[in-house]
Amino acid sequence: MISANQTYDFIVVGSGGGSMCAALYLKSVGLNPLVLEKTEFIGGSTAMSGGVLWIPNNSLNREAGLQDSPEKGRQYLDTLTTSPDPGRGGTQARRHAFVDQGPEMIDFLRAQGIELLRADGYSDYYDDSPGGMAEGRAIVAKVFDVKRLGKEWASKLRLTGLTLPLTIREVCKIVLIKKTWEAKQIAMRMTLRQLQNKLFGKQLVGTGAALQGRMLEACVKAGAEIRINSPVCEFIMENGAVRGVVVRKDGSEERILSRYGVLINAGGFSHNPEMRARYQPEVKTLWSSANPGDTGEMIEETLRVGGSVDAMDESWWISTSMPPEHQGIWPLHITEIAKPHTIMVDAQGNRFCNEGASYMEVGQMQLARHRSGVEAIPGWMVFDSQYHKDYMTAGTMPGAKFPKKWLDSGYIQVADTLAELAGKCGIDASGLEKTVERFNGFARSGVDLDYHRGRRQYDRWFGDPTHKPSPSLGTLEKGPYYALKIYPGDVGTAGGIVADEFARALTPTNDIIENLYATGNSSAPVCGRYYVGPGTSIGASFTFGYIAAKHAAAKAGM
Ligand SMILES: Cc1cc2nc3c(=O)[nH]c(=O)nc-3n(C[C@H](O)[C@H](O)[C@H](O)COP(=O)(O)OP(=O)(O)OC[C@H]3O[C@@H](n4cnc5c(N)ncnc54)[C@H](O)[C@@H]3O)c2cc1C
Repeated sequence: MISANQTYDFIVVGSGGGSMCAALYLKSVGLNPLVLEKTEFIGGSTAMSGGVLWIPNNSLNREAGLQDSPEKGRQYLDTLTTSPDPGRGGTQARRHAFVDQGPEMIDFLRAQGIELLRADGYSDYYDDSPGGMAEGRAIVAKVFDVKRLGKEWASKLRLTGLTLPLTIREVCKIVLIKKTWEAKQIAMRMTLRQLQNKLFGKQLVGTGAALQGRMLEACVKAGAEIRINSPVCEFIMENGAVRGVVVRKDGSEERILSRYGVLINAGGFSHNPEMRARYQPEVKTLWSSANPGDTGEMIEETLRVGGSVDAMDESWWISTSMPPEHQGIWPLHITEIAKPHTIMVDAQGNRFCNEGASYMEVGQMQLARHRSGVEAIPGWMVFDSQYHKDYMTAGTMPGAKFPKKWLDSGYIQVADTLAELAGKCGIDASGLEKTVERFNGFARSGVDLDYHRGRRQYDRWFGDPTHKPSPSLGTLEKGPYYALKIYPGDVGTAGGIVADEFARALTPTNDIIENLYATGNSSAPVCGRYYVGPGTSIGASFTFGYIAAKHAAAKAGM
């Protein structure tokens, strides 16, 4: 008999996206789950994120009169994500499980009182691929008052990052504050919400904090047990099956058994330098914006007990810069590099991607250029004074003076001419001048013949609708010119434990490790090498967490 301190029906390791969804489902069928979170905060990177879930054929879209279907969702994933090889996480069975169970999961959450909204118009990232939707399939949580969690829980929600009282849709659009009425209205809404915080003692948050805040509230209400400061270090094994976990902290050890399974929702390995060096040698842990608990030990532990991993060289790449003396999440430049009057170049002064494409693709292209032997890490975001006048840079307001320490430290380089700027940055000057001349031609015609920036609805979503002829392309012709270093940072690693369509962990020969499930960044990605739309990562984490919980509940006869 295995010795243990306690026994639960189900254990979730980590409080990421799928964790509380799984716990909530199990509570709803009368089972007793336990969520174990290593850090002092609940919510993982999910709570720091935009809080978007990509779910095809969801009920919110249907209620808005949009046409989607399981067939369309499957067609999109089957066409788009199968080349290059999606790896063992992206099997057809898993893709279809995602499409089939995602909508049910959303309906389950809504029935549990989680208030969700469409991120209206936040397009699929490849809307021009068969089955793609320009209107988007993105779902977010309504702005949430953290105070609703009460004293015991409010301080335990991870609240770094995008904690403005705005939904991600509003965050994406407020950056056009100088250009559109919509942005000005959003700014007014934000001010009103901040006023409510002051006048009525609320703590309104949006994005991932709202999502995980609402999930935590529902779990607490349902009586699901969630423990912080509880790092899981080992599985308890019996005859090749996982029977429980060992939590070790400050010299004490707790052995906890689970009747129906253990779900790993412990994120990836963004902050594990040894795993990075092994799987992603060009990439530094420093560049990551993932939560500090993203250290990969549960992936290693799964390998130890016979599991397998895939897509470990992949991350959710995101163009990142590193200002001096910065605290918190690095500036992420996804909305900025998609705006007119800016391009990204390598050390030869050449562009290497559609800057307005999915951030994962931009990172892949940057890494590919660097691996080809041309220095592209860092790459350079180059922009002119037209850009600076109208758009934000690393969080500064349009037209605002850049902080002196940014200029003194060389974080932002400034020069009157492109050649001088190139000299300061170590970029080939004639290469940069030629690239800009060619790009300016594209900007005037409105068509990017090299990388097709602005062709997809997603590129245009982050563009400037007031800019003509293209919302995505604008000339770089008015000095002074500016440049800042862009690294292929990430918001999490994408590879991990290989699991099947029921989220069950698999051995290298596709045998099931009994009672072990994985979801989120701990698992190999269902969408392979693609970020198919906003919320690809969190949508899959929630869905496979839900699938795992249903599978375990079925074992219990529920
Ligand atoms: C600024 C930002 C914006 C983003 N926006 C989006 C977005 O809108 N949509 C989207 O899909 N993705 C977004 N991402 C990426 C996304 O947040 C992550 O990919 C996703 O949240 C990962 O979720 P997860 O379920 O794998 O686990 P996580 O949310 O990362 O949580 C894992 C948890 O497990 C804990 N843990 C780790 N090891 C152990 C252990 N041994 N024992 C116990 N606990 C452990 C960790 O401390 C952590 O709390 C964004 C990320 C950032 C940083």
